[in-house]
Amino acid sequence: MAIVLDGKKLRDRLLEGLKTKLDGFDKKPTLVVILVGENPASKIYVNNKKKTAEKLGINSVVINYPENVTEKELLNKIEELNNDKEVTAILVQLPLPKHISKENVMNTIIPQKDVDGFTPYNVGKLFSGEEPIVYPCTPKGVLLLLDEYKIDLDGKHAVVVGRSNIVGRPMSQMLLNRNATVTICHSHTKNLAQIIKTADVVVSAVGKNIIEGEMLKSDCVIVDVGIFKDEDGKTRGDVDFESASKTASYISPVPGGVGPMTITSLMLNTVELFEKSSV
Ligand code: NAP
Repeated sequence: MAIVLDGKKLRDRLLEGLKTKLDGFDKKPTLVVILVGENPASKIYVNNKKKTAEKLGINSVVINYPENVTEKELLNKIEELNNDKEVTAILVQLPLPKHISKENVMNTIIPQKDVDGFTPYNVGKLFSGEEPIVYPCTPKGVLLLLDEYKIDLDGKHAVVVGRSNIVGRPMSQMLLNRNATVTICHSHTKNLAQIIKTADVVVSAVGKNIIEGEMLKSDCVIVDVGIFKDEDGKTRGDVDFESASKTASYISPVPGGVGPMTITSLMLNTVELFEKSSV
């Protein structure tokens, strides 16, 4: 049976360490989260971020705009936050309504306050094999989890399923920077099962149940980023946990695997930006 990659346990330890560190700061970092509209999932995510930040002693401000806010108004607010010395980190919750260009938003946040690591400067650094100011939260959380269990990536065949800008693409670069041999799969990939069968490490970020135990190479490591609700309203990941845990050597559960690590990374990134800005 596979060893479970326990994201909750690691989160609790890392956040405890971060709280002790923050207790020693005279001044606290400030994280500003901008939410546009009333998307229920986004509201839950934003609320969790605020609650976690507050527990640690990070100042947390949520700016909630109505769905019909203009792009100009949003960009003006970001400019104002960029110039506000009290603001450490800016996060614009995605997805945004169609009339607002995500690119324009990302081009406006200054890289020094880009807590998600999504602005062109930080993405460019990552994809050049250089250090961005901070790494994107979900892939960073995946690597923290793999490192916690001392999973060696050097020379391993890592298969990333999904190529989004928030998970799949940065994940693949971060694995490449760790000297893994990386294959990226997506909805047009023809022989997904065959590719997965050759993987030492699988990171799946799709949002559909696409991986069964029989597809996996024995003793592989499987990290499940996907989250969705099935017909019964139960939270599920991309991987069939029961069958996969019989084949894999390590497996992350959903919930309790990558999710807690993403929010942990956000808190770590906020403090990293704060420390870098005070140098
Ligand atoms: P996304 O933007 O919808 O991307 C999904 C990716 O999956 C796309 O690249 C898509 O390919 C690919 N895909 C879809 N069907 C496929 C199939 N049958 N076979 C192979 N690839 C397929 O989603 P995302 O934002 O990256 O998120 C992915 C999942 O992770 C979601 O369930 C999301 O809720 C979850 N998530 C979890 C966390 C966390 O903290 N745990 C954080 C972020 C996201 P194409 O590019 O060809 O369309």
